[in-house]
Amino acid sequence: MIRQDTKSQRWQLPVLHQRTGELTDRLSRETRAIDLGALPVSNMPDTVTKSVCGFCSTGCGLSIHMRDGVAINVTPDHDYPVNRGMACPKGWESLRVLDAPDRATTPLLRLPSGDMLPISWQQATATFCDRFKAIQETHGAESVAFISTGQIATEEMFFLGCLTKFGMGMVHGDGNTRQCMATSAVAYKQAFGFDAPPFTYADLELSDVLVFVGANPCLAHPIIWQRVLQNPNNPDLIVIDPRKTETAMAASEHLAIQPKSDLTLLYGIANLLISAGAIDQRYIADHTANYEDFRCHVSAFDPERVSSETGISIDQLQRVVQLIAHGKRVSFWWTMGVNQSYQGVRTAQAIINLALMTGNIGRPGTGANSITGQCNAMGSRLYSNTSNLLGHRDFTKAEDRQTVAETLGIPVKNIPSQNSLAYDQIIAGIDSGRIRGLWVIATNTAHSWISSPRARVLLGKLDFLVVQDMYHSTDTARMADLVLPAAGWGEKEGTLINSERRIGTIKRVSRAPGQALADFSILRLLADAWGCSELFSQWARPADVFESMKQISAGRPCDITGIKDYAMLDRCGGVQWPWTVEDAAKSSEPDVHRRLFEDGRFFHADGRARFIFAEPKSVPEPTSSDYPFVLLTGRGSVSQWHTETRTAKSPILKQLSPAPNVEVNPIDADRLGIRDGDMVEVSNRRGRAQVRAFVTSTVQPSQLFMAMHNMQTNLLTLENVDPESRQPCYKHCAVALGRCVGSPNPRSGS
Ligand code: SF4
Repeated sequence: MIRQDTKSQRWQLPVLHQRTGELTDRLSRETRAIDLGALPVSNMPDTVTKSVCGFCSTGCGLSIHMRDGVAINVTPDHDYPVNRGMACPKGWESLRVLDAPDRATTPLLRLPSGDMLPISWQQATATFCDRFKAIQETHGAESVAFISTGQIATEEMFFLGCLTKFGMGMVHGDGNTRQCMATSAVAYKQAFGFDAPPFTYADLELSDVLVFVGANPCLAHPIIWQRVLQNPNNPDLIVIDPRKTETAMAASEHLAIQPKSDLTLLYGIANLLISAGAIDQRYIADHTANYEDFRCHVSAFDPERVSSETGISIDQLQRVVQLIAHGKRVSFWWTMGVNQSYQGVRTAQAIINLALMTGNIGRPGTGANSITGQCNAMGSRLYSNTSNLLGHRDFTKAEDRQTVAETLGIPVKNIPSQNSLAYDQIIAGIDSGRIRGLWVIATNTAHSWISSPRARVLLGKLDFLVVQDMYHSTDTARMADLVLPAAGWGEKEGTLINSERRIGTIKRVSRAPGQALADFSILRLLADAWGCSELFSQWARPADVFESMKQISAGRPCDITGIKDYAMLDRCGGVQWPWTVEDAAKSSEPDVHRRLFEDGRFFHADGRARFIFAEPKSVPEPTSSDYPFVLLTGRGSVSQWHTETRTAKSPILKQLSPAPNVEVNPIDADRLGIRDGDMVEVSNRRGRAQVRAFVTSTVQPSQLFMAMHNMQTNLLTLENVDPESRQPCYKHCAVALGRCVGSPNPRSGS
């Protein structure tokens, strides 16, 4: 029995459903059959299985080495076009994190005492259905919601979205992908007419100028950074970031702007490019709309204003404009510094505007390129059935619902005609009583959601919380009423889609511990227990769902009807979408690197991209005399992933990552009597964090930096979202800093 956080709640052992029991037995038999079929048996020669990495959106290819039926090692795949023989420490340690004592090995049900009771899958699925159905009967079908993830296979998120919304009557479901790339998805959709990152990684090596905005690929996307280093053009590198990050240290020009003055800076650069005549009038005339309004808008951003609001000198501003103006192939890249902002969509579109106005899109070495975060955030964008109907369609459009219903063979009345609440609205819905039951899959809300203390209080208010995860020990699983043990990467199969739209496969090379099942198998069990499995009877294996994904994509910009099967994905080194049946009729296999918009046609009905802009807003929580520091957040280590749920299991990755700290500028440290290594308190209206000070000039005076992996960081962040994308603004809040008196400093011996 596992002692966990207590939660006062009545409970009842579920009625066992005979039918569920039969399915469990069958799945168990199937799983054993797969075990024998998929894994080499003893005395077989050593073999290598190829799989895509399951951590970040770079999507590296890995070789998994098998001996006597056991996966014994992982090395980077030399032939895979993404990483070409390279991998970061997380990829190398992919297998190690599967082997942890806190793996969830059996379903767990919370007792009134707070203890967690191991139960059977029959009991677990029956409890799931009894509790959620009871909530729906009392409070309406919409009162149960789900929070999905960018960490499971596309086939699983497709199945999950269909089961919840078409089978269980749920309307509201979102993903942790809301926290990392909703801004980019909305920015692309509004500007291009579809959520379509246009680039291929080869562009990193073909540019002569690369502009990184709010991105630190050296740490966050190390293999992408390696591709930059392999660029033979000796490119100029412009980095826009308040911090002197590892990437900024390598820059030709580091624009260390005041936090959240990026929108002003980007409009100022646009204005100067127009003044210098360094724009592509022909491209603008032939392929875009709304340019004149945009030109008028940015004319107000003269160099003096931009310099004053951003802290960048006019000289540096003009040097950067000259680099962009003279670049033949300029590529613009952004990540969370842009996305996790209260005005992130307009900032991303300001980057897109620069690419459009200079004609730097649709050609080698160019593009307005969002690098996303999680290994399958891109799969979530197209197939999770959360904020968009499958295939990036619209729940509110009758013709879209009809198409999906006919394609999947389900009654159209089962498809909700309204959009889902976003993640922050689901959290707010718990507070208001609108959401009473929640199913969390492979994410850690209690740690990662912005302003986590409030999130934890609200999770505790739920009538029933189900967590489906590899580990029973996550901050969120420890609050659950029911834990469903899931297999992880390496223990199941399916596909992932990386940042450059490349679909690759993951493989089952290891057995999940105990009774843990692939998310796909858990969904089948739950569909049967709920009584809606006939809707999904065509999906016996992930490959069957992949066929449905292909059909759903037909005629969409993300059309993949030309991909034959998983074997083709492996043979081709992954396939970037789109790849249509028409493409396949002309060429049996796609080129390894393909980019969008080479013909200058975008996905709006008139084929034109849009210039979209807005007046910059002031920060939601300005500093004050009580809270005089701006707290910046971000990735703090190449060896840790998000809330460290998996990566903390590897001793090597733990050793490679720094202990939790706060970066403090030497001027501030001197003024406050803080020495490197002192225990300090970072505090504000929402919480207090005690960490060691890391005195460094990477942060500017009056700014601090804490890593997202640290559980304490979100004690401080401000719950505030971009109104367009509803992505939280993790990157800016006001805090105070003080030394913890009496706490010894191990580095000074005092
Ligand atoms: Fe995996 Fe990302 Fe590291 Fe590549 S860069 S090995 S995809 S974590």
